[in-house]
Amino acid sequence: MPAIKVAITDYRYDDLRIETELLAAAGIELIAGSCKTEEDVIRLAQHADGIIVNYAPITAAVIGALERCRIISRNGVGINNVDVEAASARGIYVANVPDYGVEEVSNHAFAMVLHYARKITGYDAAIRSGVWDYKACCPLRRLSAQTLGLLGFGRIPRRLAEKAAAFRFNVLVYDPYVSEDDIRAYGARPATCDEICRLADYISVHVPLAAETRLLINAERLRTMKPNAVIVNTSRGAIIDEAALADALRGGRIGGAALDVLENEPIAAGHPLLGLDNVVLTPHCAWYSEEAMIELRTKAAQNTADVLTGKHSPYIVNRSAANGSAKKGATEGA
Ligand code: NAD
Repeated sequence: MPAIKVAITDYRYDDLRIETELLAAAGIELIAGSCKTEEDVIRLAQHADGIIVNYAPITAAVIGALERCRIISRNGVGINNVDVEAASARGIYVANVPDYGVEEVSNHAFAMVLHYARKITGYDAAIRSGVWDYKACCPLRRLSAQTLGLLGFGRIPRRLAEKAAAFRFNVLVYDPYVSEDDIRAYGARPATCDEICRLADYISVHVPLAAETRLLINAERLRTMKPNAVIVNTSRGAIIDEAALADALRGGRIGGAALDVLENEPIAAGHPLLGLDNVVLTPHCAWYSEEAMIELRTKAAQNTADVLTGKHSPYIVNRSAANGSAKKGATEGA
């Protein structure tokens, strides 16, 4: 019988010791690539029993070319680069790691909010240019007089809502899939996306990237925002129309933006956002702490080991759909 193999399509770590050792203990061999295109993934993973993927495209075409794959494990929370429907149709499980970085991402988003709320770097720049004056960054507002709007109310923004409540922010939440009672239980008020755009001083984006959330923050919604409004995005770049955002920031029609994610990463030289003072950028690192990284890598590899050794994995996102297709396939084949 050929050895069981898991392919890791792409990764940003210095080595793969965690994954190699965990899989070896389960009798599984790891093969590694640095795939960017569908062709790269097919070349690496066509004969693999499982896949661990970071940002490489796992499209329907890729899934159609996989000969033995039983599990696709995303090395992260968002599964927007995996065609889950195509995987389910072939009885392939898709898993993610939804819980490894909730503290880190909520802290990062809140740090971005506080960055603007207290204007620390603005004061620092003023001092370095010879100005020692509280008026250098006027006005600052008390947090309890301001509103934080959360778009999406999954694990990360719920933790952020708890932190914001401790700082006395008014919190508004838009998530059509969460009950109003659930939102109120966090001391927040339910609102529509349009209400949040009109009313919030800070808008923090946490919806997953999908067809219905792509360009959720577009030119029209940007036009309705307060002149001091700050947009924070730790979710996915394509949820915001970057060209429209750059326009609004350039024209001073909103107060600022703090972005951990962009539509195309890494940012291209000469990107319009790089030339603007009222933007703060971080390199898709909101998830990162040493502890979160170890937890993420361990759980992403464990997802593949569990499925390939017949154990229960708690992180499968398409269990019933994949099971349904697998059963149907078996009946048809019989
Ligand atoms: P989650 O899966 O716990 O929750 C997603 C929430 O979004 C759910 O409550 C769902 O009801 C809601 N939602 C879905 N579609 C919606 C829509 N159209 N409008 C409004 N709400 C909608 O997700 P999470 O753990 O809170 O993470 C949110 C996102 O953060 C992830 O999808 C991922 O893309 C991103 N993320 C980024 C980093 C980073 O390092 N920057 C790290 C982890 C996660």
